Amino acid sequence: MKDLKKLTGECINEVKAAGICIGERISFEINKRAKTRWGLCRKNRDGSYQIQIAGILLEDNRISEKSCKETIIHELLHTCEGCMKHTGRWKQYALKMNRLYGYDIKRVTTGVEKGVENYRSSQLPVKYMFVCKSCGAVIYRKRESRFTRNYRNYICTRCGAAAWSRRKVERTE
Ligand SMILES: [Zn+2]
Ligand SMILES: [Zn+2]
Repeated sequence: MKDLKKLTGECINEVKAAGICIGERISFEINKRAKTRWGLCRKNRDGSYQIQIAGILLEDNRISEKSCKETIIHELLHTCEGCMKHTGRWKQYALKMNRLYGYDIKRVTTGVEKGVENYRSSQLPVKYMFVCKSCGAVIYRKRESRFTRNYRNYICTRCGAAAWSRRKVERTE
């Protein structure tokens, strides 16, 4: 089990050392039920931020500390001024962190890249991955369904946009 407090402390120091100004009040929470995303950043009405990190990142020994920190930093960068989307300044900061510390922080990271082929199921590998082009939300599906066939007609439950795009999922068999 990785130490979230230790890792978040390191991440905050690294981001600050890079000259990047993050939100002032940030709280972290482990999301044990997260199945479709590694992390999440929410801005509260009072201007503070809440970051959720998927429990699997901390629990699964196949996932490296570095990989876990990439998710934490990905979310920390969302607390920067004008950085709720994965474009513009957020992207610049992510590239800066990658350059300075050798990270591979990006919009969407697959399970394969994290070092786990598929943590959702030990039987069926993930075959279908959908990314919301508007907010970056990710959905995985193991088999064809009404959604996988008609995803263009569905809206994203996170941001409400009808902007799903289909991505190839790498598989190691
Ligand atoms: Zn993000
Ligand atoms: Zn969305």
